[in-house]
Amino acid sequence: MKIYITGLPSGYDVEHLVRLFYPMAPLTLTPPAEGEDHLWASCGPEGLAVTVQEQGRGRTVTAPLPAPGDGMSPEFALASLAYGLLRAWTGLRPPWGKMTGVRPVRLIHDKRAAGWREEDIDRLFLERFDCSQEKYRMARAIADLQEPILRRGAEPKAYSLYIGIPFCPSRCSYCSFVSCNLDRDRKLVQPYVDCLCRELEAIRAEAERAGLRLQTVYIGGGTPTSLSAAQLRQLMGAVRANFPLEGLDEYTVEAGRPDCTDAEKLAVIKEYGATRISINPQSFSDEVLARIGRRHTAQDILDCYAAARAAGHSDINMDLIAGLPGDTVEGFAHSLRTAIGLDPENITVHTLTLKRASRIVMEDQEDNAYADVAAMLERCSLLPAAGYRPYYLYRQKNTLQNLENVGWSKPGKEGYYNIYIMEEVQTILSAGAGGSTKLVDAAGHRMQRIFNFKYPNEYIQRFDEVLERKKGVAAFYDHDLGT
Ligand code: SF4
Repeated sequence: MKIYITGLPSGYDVEHLVRLFYPMAPLTLTPPAEGEDHLWASCGPEGLAVTVQEQGRGRTVTAPLPAPGDGMSPEFALASLAYGLLRAWTGLRPPWGKMTGVRPVRLIHDKRAAGWREEDIDRLFLERFDCSQEKYRMARAIADLQEPILRRGAEPKAYSLYIGIPFCPSRCSYCSFVSCNLDRDRKLVQPYVDCLCRELEAIRAEAERAGLRLQTVYIGGGTPTSLSAAQLRQLMGAVRANFPLEGLDEYTVEAGRPDCTDAEKLAVIKEYGATRISINPQSFSDEVLARIGRRHTAQDILDCYAAARAAGHSDINMDLIAGLPGDTVEGFAHSLRTAIGLDPENITVHTLTLKRASRIVMEDQEDNAYADVAAMLERCSLLPAAGYRPYYLYRQKNTLQNLENVGWSKPGKEGYYNIYIMEEVQTILSAGAGGSTKLVDAAGHRMQRIFNFKYPNEYIQRFDEVLERKKGVAAFYDHDLGT
């Protein structure tokens, strides 16, 4: 199925919605050949038209151009027309309807802040976007739960600190992050940690100058436990030496993979003040783990979890992914039941995203073995029954069936940093390669970003520039105060 769009400066919405029904459909810039399967969407002075042709059969629908008072762009009107046609043609109903935005919860917050009535927000989701009742109910419940947390996060001068460790013991096939393989790049790790500790000092100085108050710390990656126990001590020691940890709301360290996380590292993480860790099985199927390039078994995850509890960790998150190659609906349900059986405080369920930089897309594109991911997510009904509530939600482009990622937690165990980064209510100061510092002013209206170099070797080699750019933090707040 090819996508051909004419008459619009940007056909992005149309393209995106067609892929809800035909996930791998390529966009073409030339008219489809006779008999070729295609979706042709056009916008012209005479109106809008969409034709679908598949296996020798076809259908066309037309509509007038939207009137200026309709509050609808020609792009959205054409995308809606294509959506309606494909919904009837395929018999499929995408759970989020024609909503293309990646932050549905944010949309609810924004509309509430703009004074919309609840029934108007209901109509926007259910009628205009054709969102399912179930998905909308979840987004609204999350928005309600987040409100007091966001108020805290939006306190003037509150900020979070993110520290990135872009190293992993092996590369997962679905990964699109910048992450270096330890086998190949181990020599970079120590100079990287040394630079990181210096960057933390610079961040401390900037935060002090701007009068900022630290609320949460998050060490993520990559896999932070790729560092040796001594390097973890060095890094977390630098965090402790530079930042006041006593008043923190949360301090998370991702101990993502059991193939590099041991009892000693878990003890260091605890000793240096982390309050929350993440152990990420992704799947409890050995076959799926092998297929995605993980060098550990499901039993290794169970052992790692037991070691974390033994080390005194009392707030643990576990990530799972729905739609991994080789997985099945029953296989995913088994992973979910196993995670629930361990009783972690958080379970985050992601939907597989096919990013261009991932091996799955580059090598495995014709693999049609992705099981019914919507049916997998339906199994998440096991989570409320086990006492978990959804507390943050986001979507990504190119996610299977345009589905969502949802963080579930036991009441009172919501991961604040996850909410703050998603809803963009506070400043996040980032350290490390690929770090993106996000500065938010006191009114939450003005935002500015400062980027670090993406790759560790560049970050190390051009570290003076990293430090120079960090001076933008205090400068931003000087401007904010009009000084
Ligand atoms: S552990 Fe995470 S960052 Fe590392 S390779 Fe796998 S998906 Fe990528």
